Amino acid sequence: MCENCERIYVVVHPDSAKRIHLTRLSNADRAYRLTCDCKAQRLFDKSGPQAYRVSEYSCLRGYADRGEYDALPKRTAEVAGREQS
Ligand SMILES: [Zn+2]
Repeated sequence: MCENCERIYVVVHPDSAKRIHLTRLSNADRAYRLTCDCKAQRLFDKSGPQAYRVSEYSCLRGYADRGEYDALPKRTAEVAGREQS
């Protein structure tokens, strides 16, 4: 997501792949750099992208502008297995 214009990009969209580049920071692990249409750049960690729910149209378009997406709650670790006593 671009913090400047609040547009989010669908990472799996081919157009978004052109905007997102793997970069290596000297003092950190790998990070990804997103270049937005508004020329703003944003660095994010691989685990950083927040999950959003977007419409099918936004998926096809490759991005969603503000108001066109909903942030999904962070997935909580699912506890598998039932207690047996
Ligand atoms: Zn932007």
